[in-house]
Amino acid sequence: MKRPVFYFSLVLLIGIFMGVGLAASYPYFQSFESRRATILNDMEQLIEEQVKEGNYRCCIEPACTMCFMGSWIWDDGICRCDDMIASGQDDKVCPQCKKGLEEGRCKSSDEDFCEVKAAKENKEDI
Ligand SMILES: [Zn+2]
Repeated sequence: MKRPVFYFSLVLLIGIFMGVGLAASYPYFQSFESRRATILNDMEQLIEEQVKEGNYRCCIEPACTMCFMGSWIWDDGICRCDDMIASGQDDKVCPQCKKGLEEGRCKSSDEDFCEVKAAKENKEDI
């Protein structure tokens, strides 16, 4: 008679552990703010990885998220704004990158471009 009680307790215990684990990992039990922070952090990490691997060729620092979101002319999540600068197609640089360039966050591999941009900005300030 003792065995069924033992098994029942074991199953119950496993059930409790699984329930607690599930609750902790299940995103819907977390607040909007907490889930948003997690997603933004993951996004930043993913972009940073791609920047390091040379795939995400953004022209500003920190890199844009617009190309990642597929909100610009490419929908594969990869930024090519720096390539566009290099090939003189400035009109294809995403709006977020353009804004970043205006704010002086230029990080183009074309250093001359950044210098010209900075010089231009300084002139406009005066
Ligand atoms: Zn971009």
